[in-house]
Amino acid sequence: MDRQMGTLVSAVLVDPREKYPKPPYKRQTQEWPGLASKMEPKPDHGETSYKGSGRLIGRKALITGGDSGIGRAAIAYAREGADVAINYYPSEEDDAREVIGLIQNEGRKAAGIPGDLRDEAFCKALVNQAVSVLGGLDIIISNAGRQQTAASLEEVSTEEFDATMKTNIYAPFWIIKAALPHLQPGSVIIATTSEQAYDPSPDLYAYAQTKAATMNFVKSLGKMLGEKGIRVNGVAPGPVWTPLQISGGSPMERVENFGSKTPLGRAGQPAELASIYVQLAAEDASYANGQIYGSSGGAGQP
Ligand code: NAD
Ligand code: MG
Repeated sequence: MDRQMGTLVSAVLVDPREKYPKPPYKRQTQEWPGLASKMEPKPDHGETSYKGSGRLIGRKALITGGDSGIGRAAIAYAREGADVAINYYPSEEDDAREVIGLIQNEGRKAAGIPGDLRDEAFCKALVNQAVSVLGGLDIIISNAGRQQTAASLEEVSTEEFDATMKTNIYAPFWIIKAALPHLQPGSVIIATTSEQAYDPSPDLYAYAQTKAATMNFVKSLGKMLGEKGIRVNGVAPGPVWTPLQISGGSPMERVENFGSKTPLGRAGQPAELASIYVQLAAEDASYANGQIYGSSGGAGQP
């Protein structure tokens, strides 16, 4: 229900099947890591639609991969009143600038901190820089990820396997460890895992196992840090329309039919997940700890 001019009016019902573009999607490829601004259709990250209601006023968030895709929940965070630092790979500066502009439009502090998460020294510097620009930290969203499709095990090089482990497993370890001394009780950590953690695709041998690891560390850290008053949760998306998929993450047949096997019959859009990241960070979710929240259009796990 919506309150307008002192009267209650019905919220508009929107059919979730029809809300966004449906497959077949245009086949397209970009060089890794890709830009949201060059995708067709452009993903919706809530730029024009997300409305805040003060749920994160005064909070200080660091979001990895905040330039595009699911990490653009950064926009929702700013509209809920949070100051936000985003990390991204240096070649994603264009996407990052757009997000930084949108955060600043809300009158919130924004920091753009480019760098390669596969480097431990950078991960530590990232946390320190976020703390110094924002004046502290109480939300860590470990969202950046590497996904590269490979049809056979022979095609998975040691370099690619290592890059996937560094980005998806080591970087969260380095970042969370560096952030811990700054996190007071009431702070939260949110990790992006995947339905791949539970039901891996054969072409995502390296990636899928990192997402199982992410799901697992959410549960171990939820126990370890819950005792210190820090909540740790994860989000497990299904197919979501982001640069990850078209910059090596999926074969073109999957891109073309992305999300067609879900009951809603289409890929999800990043904007449809932003409110989950807001909810998990919000103070009123104070009993949510060690949990994984799915958003997959009705297929997949959890
Ligand atoms: P995305 O491409 O928009 O975001 C991924 C981000 O990871 C990039 O923007 C980039 O900034 C960052 N990144 C990757 N390697 C990096 C490195 N070495 N250094 C610095 N930054 C690096 O795509 P997305 O789909 O929004 O991905 C966000 C998260 O969602 C990932 O963890 C991904 O595994 C997960 N996920 C996505 C889907 C999906 O269908 N899109 C499904 C399940 C889970
Ligand atoms: Mg990006």
